[in-house]
Amino acid sequence: MTDCVIYTRVSSKEQEEGFSLEAQLDLLRKYALDNDLRIAQEHVEVESAKAPGRPVFDKMLDYLKVNPETILLVEKTDRLVRNLKDHITIEDLGISIHFVKEGTQYGPGAKSGDKFMQGIRVLMARQYIDNLGEEITKGMTKRAEAGKWSCTVPYGYRTNPETRSLEIVPEEAEAIRWLFDTYATGDYSLRQLCAEFRTKGFPWRYAKPLYPTRAHKMLNNPIYKGIIKWGDIVVRGEHEPIVATALWDKVQANIHQRSRPKASKHEFAYRGLIRCGHCGCLMTGSINKGHRYYKCSNARGKCNGNKYVREDVLTGTFTGHLQKISLPDTDRQLIVSAIKDFKRAEVDERDKERARVSKTATRLQTMVDTTYDDYLAGNIDRDTWQRAHQRHSEKLDQAKARIQRLDSGDASLYDHAERLINTAVSASEEFETGKPAKKRSILKAIVSNCTLTSGNLHHNYKKPFDIIAEGFNTSNWWSVSDSNRQPPACKAGALPLS
Ligand SMILES: [Zn+2]
Repeated sequence: MTDCVIYTRVSSKEQEEGFSLEAQLDLLRKYALDNDLRIAQEHVEVESAKAPGRPVFDKMLDYLKVNPETILLVEKTDRLVRNLKDHITIEDLGISIHFVKEGTQYGPGAKSGDKFMQGIRVLMARQYIDNLGEEITKGMTKRAEAGKWSCTVPYGYRTNPETRSLEIVPEEAEAIRWLFDTYATGDYSLRQLCAEFRTKGFPWRYAKPLYPTRAHKMLNNPIYKGIIKWGDIVVRGEHEPIVATALWDKVQANIHQRSRPKASKHEFAYRGLIRCGHCGCLMTGSINKGHRYYKCSNARGKCNGNKYVREDVLTGTFTGHLQKISLPDTDRQLIVSAIKDFKRAEVDERDKERARVSKTATRLQTMVDTTYDDYLAGNIDRDTWQRAHQRHSEKLDQAKARIQRLDSGDASLYDHAERLINTAVSASEEFETGKPAKKRSILKAIVSNCTLTSGNLHHNYKKPFDIIAEGFNTSNWWSVSDSNRQPPACKAGALPLS
């Protein structure tokens, strides 16, 4: 008899909404029984998707490391892997995994088609977690709309531990006022302003002393005149301003006058996108003998790290990097059809879940009504009614919240994934032949943190393009060599063990 290990996971938020660990457990236990597997261990994890670390998961990994013959049973991919790193960790163990609900197996000897599908599921799991990030952003937007600050507390303020809102730190506020007053005179450049500031002995909370970029940011921050800006939202904050609006505006005028960009008749595709890897300054463009070049702006002092780099050389390098995420059309079709399959299965699943929760909600509503009738009829006393009422309505609220979440569900996630895949396919070609503005928009969508170090261009791929790029480099999991490549149908239920 083969041993198996069960792993179930639920986020604290899902649990609040009545998302059941028991249902996962039951499904997996039944699967083990049906397939003649002995359950060696059961691991149950409750966690938040963004929190670092999963203690139960780690413990399970330890067990599997010394018992590599054991089969791992999980409900669905998103229960097990949350990102590429998890995927690789699991893959390195070399164990077999059965995704019971998805009906697929993964591990040594898995069909390349299954491996490929696994890659897609990892992509989906990753998207799911990113989506949670958006939820957090939504929360911060709500706070901003209410005039509350929710980012790093700016210099000059601290958070009041009781009211959770910003309050002035008097000594720092004095420093802020000095900065605005002094700069408003128009006699100082940012560099001079910072130098003067450092001699004043104002309290300073950061490791690095005040430098022009930070001073510029501070002088530009409307928080000091009492305004909160978050994305497109601009509202009067509930905090006390440090400088008067008139002073703030005067400073703005000075900044713009000094830093007014010199009108450029040449359009540089990579202006503002690449930093010098030696000193961290932006690379600026120039034209020499009909060629476009980039060099370090030397804004932080003379820097000899990079020689002039020609624009067409950079274009060639970027094109090469973008090719890494360009999928052949056949792969794209396969992925898109797989995404559609997932979407259908997910919508199916969601409809079932919605029907189930709606039924629960109706039942709870009846219970709320009945106990009230019982109270009115004098069958139960006021206390009993109130206790019952509270108990049932809490559960009812949870069920309603769950329904709302299901309705606002992210089938759009799959549309998004599809769009991303299509972007990936055409990126390098459109980039190579596109006008400077097109080049810029493609780069902005796909890469971040571009730096040039001694002529070598480095960057990160933005999510989820990093998965595609790494997929080609590390384990080849997108490439399916079968001539007959068919994504497995994504159905509930399990495949028989081979
Ligand atoms: Zn430099």
